[in-house]
Amino acid sequence: MNEDDERWMREAIGLAISSKGTDPADTPIAALVVRDGVLIATGVNRTAEDCDATAHAEVVALRAAGAATGDMKIDGATLYTTLQPCGMCSFASIWAGMSRIVFGAGRADVHEMYFEDRHLGALDYIADAYKQDLTISGGVLATDCAALYYGPHDSVPDTEQANS
Ligand SMILES: [Zn+2]
Repeated sequence: MNEDDERWMREAIGLAISSKGTDPADTPIAALVVRDGVLIATGVNRTAEDCDATAHAEVVALRAAGAATGDMKIDGATLYTTLQPCGMCSFASIWAGMSRIVFGAGRADVHEMYFEDRHLGALDYIADAYKQDLTISGGVLATDCAALYYGPHDSVPDTEQANS
């Protein structure tokens, strides 16, 4: 973790709150694509709003980054996200040329509904299989990020569980 990571994560948290508020039911998840200290694109979760299961904050940010740069690969960039990315977003980051993924709240900090996999984490798989290409850092401002989501022991109605 470094000061820049904290600064960008604070920005991501601010974007999540300004766009979606602080109620976990409204999925205040935000992501940033940053390269060489420059913010290229942002995204917030829009799955419910767009009726699009792929509109996770990270994918939204990667799409916006492609549009902003005119290139589908943003080589050497860092993806910041307030919540540990799922398998889809982790692999999308590889296709988009990310060098780093930096996340806030980790899997153990939040309710299990946020993750599609059980004992074999997609991020663990990627960290092993792709470690030459992609650095993964977690836990940046984890407490601030986790405060936006359902906790591990919260009782969440089935209708609000993304992976139920
Ligand atoms: Zn995702």
